[in-house]
Amino acid sequence: MTKAPFEELNRGKKQARSGILNTRAGEVKTPFFMPVATHGAVKGLEPAQVADTGAQVLLANTYHLHLQPGEKTIRKLGGLHSFSGWQGPMLTDSGGFQVFSLAKVRKITEAGVYFKNLASGREVFISPEKSMRIQLDLGADIIMAFDDVTGLDPSARSRTREAVERTHRWLGRCTTEFKKLTKGLSDSEKPLLFGIAQGGLNKALRKKSLEFVQNTDVDGIAIGGLAVGETRSEMRAMLDYLAPLYDPARVHYLMGVGEPTDVRYCLERGIDMTDCVMPTRNARHGSVWIRSDKKINLANSGFKSDSKVIDPGCDCRTCKSGYSRAYLRQLFKTNNSLAGSLASIHNLRYINRIFESYR
Ligand SMILES: [Zn+2]
Repeated sequence: MTKAPFEELNRGKKQARSGILNTRAGEVKTPFFMPVATHGAVKGLEPAQVADTGAQVLLANTYHLHLQPGEKTIRKLGGLHSFSGWQGPMLTDSGGFQVFSLAKVRKITEAGVYFKNLASGREVFISPEKSMRIQLDLGADIIMAFDDVTGLDPSARSRTREAVERTHRWLGRCTTEFKKLTKGLSDSEKPLLFGIAQGGLNKALRKKSLEFVQNTDVDGIAIGGLAVGETRSEMRAMLDYLAPLYDPARVHYLMGVGEPTDVRYCLERGIDMTDCVMPTRNARHGSVWIRSDKKINLANSGFKSDSKVIDPGCDCRTCKSGYSRAYLRQLFKTNNSLAGSLASIHNLRYINRIFESYR
C-alpha cells in the first residue's frame, strides 16, 4: 500500500505536532526547516555541511534556475540532485514569489506573468503550466503551485481579492498540468504538489482561500503572502486565526519564516515546515544567534580578542571545532569567504535545533 504523503505522530504544546512527510526522495521528520539554495546551492556550503546542521530538505528557486542554467540543462545533467550533490528531498518554489519581489519588472495577465530579466533584458514568461513543467524538469520532490502574490497595501483590497481568485484559477490549471505530466508515474515516483492559500491580512479572504486549497487534490497546504512586510502582531493574529482551520491530514507549510521567535510561534499554531534565507544571509553579514535568540555581529571590534566560540552551548561544527570569535572576526574583516560559511553552519544549526525540539 502506498504511504499517505503525511502522517501525524504526536501532538505537543498548543497546536504543535510532529509527523513524517513521505517524499519520493525519502522520509522527512516534521516539523522541519528548509535552508534556501537559490541557484541550487546554499551559499558557501557543501551539501554534506548543510546536512550536518540537521537540514533534511533544501529549497531551490524555480525562477532563478530557469534563467541560469535553465531546466533543460539541469534535466540533461540528471536533475537537481545529481546536479547539486544534495541527495535528500528538494522543494522548488513556483516562481510566483518573484512576481511579488520583482514587482517593478512584471506584467500579470490571466495567462501568466511576464518578467524582464534585469541582467539580459530578455522578457521571460511563466504561466501555471510552465511553472509545473519547469519544476518537473528540475526534478524537485515537492513542487509548488504557481500563485499570484500581493503586497500589503491596504488600499489594494480589490487587488487582494483579484489575486486570491486568480490564485485559485491558476491552482486548477496547475493540478491539470501536473496530472498530465505525471501520468504513468506510480505514486512513489511522483513528486508532491502543494497548493498555496493567499488573502493578505483579510481574514475572510484567507479563510476562503484556505478552504479552496484544502478542497483541491494537493498533497500539502502552503500559506503564502505572510512574512512579507506586515508587523509581527499582524502576522501572529493571522496565524492564530488560521490554526484551527487547517486540514490535519495534510502538511502545513508557512513560507518565508526563519526568525527564531516567529518559528516557535508558528510551530505552536499547527505549522509543520518553513523556509527562509535569513539564517544564512544574516550569517554572511556576521550576524549570528546565541542563547535566548540574542544576536551578535562577529565583525564587531568588541570580538577582536574574544577567545570564546560563538556559543559555548552550541553543538554545530563551527563551535565544536573551537573557532574563536576573534578568529571569525578576523575572517570577516579580511573578507575571507570562510567567515560566511562558518557562521552559516552555526545559524542553520541554531534554527534546526528549534525545529528538533518540537519533534
Ligand atoms: Zn555553533
